[in-house]
Amino acid sequence: MIEIRNISKTYDNGTKALKDIDIRIQDGEFVFIMGRSGSGKSTLIRLLLKEAEPSSGRIIVNDMDLQKMPRRYIPKYRRRLGVVFQDFRLLKDRTVFENVAFAQRVVGASPRKIREEVPRMLKLVGLSSKYKSFPHQLSGGEQQRVAIARALINRPEVLLADEPTGNLDHENATEIMKLLERINALGTTVVVVTHSQEIVDQMGKRVITLNKGRLVSDERKGGSDRED
Ligand code: ADP
Ligand code: ADP
Repeated sequence: MIEIRNISKTYDNGTKALKDIDIRIQDGEFVFIMGRSGSGKSTLIRLLLKEAEPSSGRIIVNDMDLQKMPRRYIPKYRRRLGVVFQDFRLLKDRTVFENVAFAQRVVGASPRKIREEVPRMLKLVGLSSKYKSFPHQLSGGEQQRVAIARALINRPEVLLADEPTGNLDHENATEIMKLLERINALGTTVVVVTHSQEIVDQMGKRVITLNKGRLVSDERKGGSDRED
């Protein structure tokens, strides 16, 4: 579970990026964080990754209080979260296979485990046939699927996706969202930052909306086919 308790974040220059934010995300949920540019979405993600510290409040992820976490534990903590970005962030000089395998090598997985797990993950994201390709030989949607495979290879409990479809056309964006939905159905908690009303409407999931650093709504089921 992710518990964000009364979090505020004021940057050194005085910008109040987040104000009194309370959010609870249960294991297995699929949640959108919505809001215009500058509303505080990235700040929230950075706090969850412990790349920034809140000015006040507490964040508890899977019973770990991020404020009390020993510094040496931070890399290990981050590896329990899968992260995907708008700009994919793949290693350009490595193949698809190597991009995904790399994340496993970092945690000391055996060659045998890597040979088993990488193909399994590439199959899940629908890229089995592209394992030898380099990132520049792939479409944007395919590159994002590699990034998702890499984010999931160490079986994180939570997948954080920061504008994962920001660089994709509608069709590819829809494919990525379907993939995230499937991953969620397999048990991973999924948190997606987006500013796309269209995607949120299409998916009909929980939507938390930020505006100028404040949480302005938290709808259990967003989108056009709301039942409540
Ligand atoms: P979003 O991701 O929704 O676009 P951000 O979290 O990036 O929003 O930004 C929220 C606010 O905090 C904005 O006003 C932004 O300019 C400001 N901000 C973001 N990062 C920094 C920083 N490192 N230093 C100062 N202000 C920042
Ligand atoms: P080592 O580096 O010796 O293997 P770990 O990195 O596994 O130790 O971390 C030491 C212990 O501290 C672990 O049991 C971990 O769960 C716990 N721990 C780390 N940070 C927190 C936190 N913020 N809240 C609660 N427990 C924590």
